[in-house]
Amino acid sequence: MTEAFIGLGANQGDVLTTLKSALELIDAHPQCQLLACSSFYRSKALTLDDEPQDDYLNAACKIETQLEAIQLLDFLQSIEDKLGRVRQKRWGARTIDLDILLFGQQQINSSRLAVPHPQISNRNFVMQPLLELDEDLEIPTMDSLKISAKALGWEGLERLPEEAQ
Ligand code: ATP
Ligand code: CA
Ligand code: CA
Repeated sequence: MTEAFIGLGANQGDVLTTLKSALELIDAHPQCQLLACSSFYRSKALTLDDEPQDDYLNAACKIETQLEAIQLLDFLQSIEDKLGRVRQKRWGARTIDLDILLFGQQQINSSRLAVPHPQISNRNFVMQPLLELDEDLEIPTMDSLKISAKALGWEGLERLPEEAQ
């Protein structure tokens, strides 16, 4: 049994419904139990070109799973497909993005999987939801999550108001 953290993001379609469906599908897997989910956050899109993109809705969740990391990736990609993700350019708009942020204390660097997710410390829309789930979370490749999140601040990020959660 492994405790894992998954990052969720969406910026096309009915984003709140899509993220909630993804959470339900994760919990419906017989070998994945959803333990907790963060609030929902709105963030400015990261882009590799100047094309404007809609804001993202982001969240993170904590699960317990009997799957291996690569099986979890296969499962998350099947959910992305089911919820209508079309794979286009890197960092392009998408109906749903599910990333494995942390898988126990495992460090993985294979052609399909990098865990802990290498971009955690550069992304406030990942760190703030993680902190909400566990403010003392230890990430093997990173210094203190709390300090890194504080240093990066809240630029381009806001927690959705209570009534919109
Ligand atoms: P980023 O990784 O910077 O957030 P992205 O989420 O937009 O970028 P995708 O197009 O969703 O990238 O995924 C590209 C590939 O990344 C996937 O096919 C998968 O094999 C690989 N990948 C590597 N590490 C991970 C991880 N920790 N979680 C999910 N996918 C990963
Ligand atoms: Ca991503
Ligand atoms: Ca991804």
